[in-house]
Amino acid sequence: MSRTTNSQPVVRCREVTRTYRGAGGGRLFDRFRDADERPTTTALEDVSLSVTRGEVVGVEGPSGSGKSTLLHLLAALDVPTRGTVSVCGADTAALSGRERTRLRLEDVGIVFQRFHLFPSLSARANVALPLVERGVSKRERREQAERLLDRVGLGDRVTHTPRRLSGGEQQRVAVARALITEPSLLVADEPTGELDTATGDRVLSLFTEAAAEETAVVLASHDRDALDVADRVITLRDGGRVDG
Ligand code: ADP
Ligand code: MG
Repeated sequence: MSRTTNSQPVVRCREVTRTYRGAGGGRLFDRFRDADERPTTTALEDVSLSVTRGEVVGVEGPSGSGKSTLLHLLAALDVPTRGTVSVCGADTAALSGRERTRLRLEDVGIVFQRFHLFPSLSARANVALPLVERGVSKRERREQAERLLDRVGLGDRVTHTPRRLSGGEQQRVAVARALITEPSLLVADEPTGELDTATGDRVLSLFTEAAAEETAVVLASHDRDALDVADRVITLRDGGRVDG
């Protein structure tokens, strides 16, 4: 259920276009052309979207439709070619790289399809990692990580390394890591793409729980069924919104 008491969106993109230059050309080909003449790929075109606290927004579309490009822009991992993306009121393109890193650390949690856990670290150490940057004491990091692992149903797995966890368990560790900084925005790119339906559903319920705690959640999937947990779904085709 969406709560819209705070009308200021957590993330807003306005008429956002992202093009990549140089696709289709080899190095030899490039040498004979001006940088400006190289062919471009338009990954995302003129997309506008706002997400408020407590909302789960799904992003649906076939492979290559621009879902990851959009999510990377929302998460301030990338900046648009045209248009603006603001996260918690900050125009991401106006920030320095260092400021964008800080914005991500403070306000954004990110979950990828393939978990991206550190193989040599325990579940607890993986979850606690964002707190190291923040200068939180080791004892406090452990406590918070254990509390969060408990919440995602892995209280009895805190010392396991990723290799000893199933795919669904690894993804729940990744979600716990994304949530440990209590981000305003949680972005998940095909988070159930590697999981079976039952395991995936368990991961998806973590996103609705995060939204119930006032996080803005954006969830991409090429599978419309995985987006049943979303309050609303936008659809991309060839980089543009086609959901009207
Ligand atoms: P999706 O996540 O929906 O599969 P993407 O956002 O990954 O779509 O890709 C959208 C389009 O942009 C595709 O045509 C893809 O090939 C292209 N694209 C994505 N990233 C790059 C890149 N770094 N360089 C060139 N083209 C890219
Ligand atoms: Mg993708």
